[in-house]
Amino acid sequence: MRKDSKFETKVIHSGYSSDQHHGALAPPIFPTSTFVFPNAETGEQRFAGEQEGYIYSRLGNPTVKMLEERIAVLEGGEKGLAFGSGMAAVSAVLMGLTKSDDHILCSQGVYGCTFGLLQMLKEKYNVEHNLIAMSDPDVIKAHIQPNTKIIFLETPINPTMALVDLEMVGKIAAKYNIKVVVDNTFCTPYLQRPLELGSHIVIHSATKYIGGHGDVVAGLVVGDRETVDLIAATTQKDIGGIMSPFDAWLLLRGLKTLPVRMDRHCDNAMYIAEKLKEHPAVESVYFPGDPEFIDYPIAQRQMDRSGGLISFKIKGNRKDAQNFINSMKLLKIAVSLGDAETLIQHPATMTHAVVPHEARERMGITDNLIRLSVGLEAKEDIWEDLEQALQSHIRKSETV
Ligand code: PLP
Repeated sequence: MRKDSKFETKVIHSGYSSDQHHGALAPPIFPTSTFVFPNAETGEQRFAGEQEGYIYSRLGNPTVKMLEERIAVLEGGEKGLAFGSGMAAVSAVLMGLTKSDDHILCSQGVYGCTFGLLQMLKEKYNVEHNLIAMSDPDVIKAHIQPNTKIIFLETPINPTMALVDLEMVGKIAAKYNIKVVVDNTFCTPYLQRPLELGSHIVIHSATKYIGGHGDVVAGLVVGDRETVDLIAATTQKDIGGIMSPFDAWLLLRGLKTLPVRMDRHCDNAMYIAEKLKEHPAVESVYFPGDPEFIDYPIAQRQMDRSGGLISFKIKGNRKDAQNFINSMKLLKIAVSLGDAETLIQHPATMTHAVVPHEARERMGITDNLIRLSVGLEAKEDIWEDLEQALQSHIRKSETV
């Protein structure tokens, strides 16, 4: 593969060469815990970092390394690291790059367990944080403290779909020598590459679009070699939330079809968002591809397409939202996203239930907000199911 090959070629060929593996087209899985040294001196040299080679699978494994190399190429970073879950990746990065009394500046909305982790870091290790809307550069600058080590953000933010201007944040961070860490789960490198826009570390819940088939829980990190090596040698090695070789293999396979799947997710979501917007039972729709969406101009600048996730509010309260979800026939009531199946969930009582009610409201996660991960089914079938549930919601409100 040439270095300047297109993304669609890189997802298939980067990180693996069949020449080195008996011509095997599919990469081999190395399900081994440890690696045999030819002699004691080799073991000593590998532990001392003086000789390349594997030692023990928590410190590195050939199948996992293929995936780490592939994701690094796709994100345009120097080095990748694989973890046993997205949260293992988030915690390894946040704990690896901070110490007691440091400060993290965080986007107003984040995934519920990331919010929980920030609370835990504060309570246990006095790592402080502020959650702020990152739309105004002056507000960001006003919240930077001498001990701020990380600006952590999601864009689009889960589940409100609000966007953060990565280039703007990158410029501010460079001035203050702070690392920008971006959770790129919603976009994948096919739609957005934060490292090209001045961010330093990208994180993925690879459980989602990268795996793409709802059969693996995994996390990935990409960044510059020095920072990633630091995380590998500390919070990955010693806390140990590593990925299994079999999961790495599933993700290598999933990545091959990422562009094809993402295009279909994007096409379907665009169709569904337009339909939802027109429906009388829907109060509002939050979708980066909607020209009326407040952050549409940011989406146009930094995302190649608008993604497969839509959030929307139905008219009514929490019970109405739950009843609406319960009327689905084809769509699956499930958290997670990025799978072939269209998934529908209620953030206030599911993914973001750990966030206290007041903080949730501030983030825009109201009780009537619903998140949809638009799948790969025929778009007409997805809409038919949503429409019958919306009609049933209207009928129920009329009889009350
Ligand atoms: N980041 C985002 C944006 C997520 O949506 C999730 C899970 O839903 C995570 C991180 C955590 O990933 P995992 O469930 O793989 O630990």
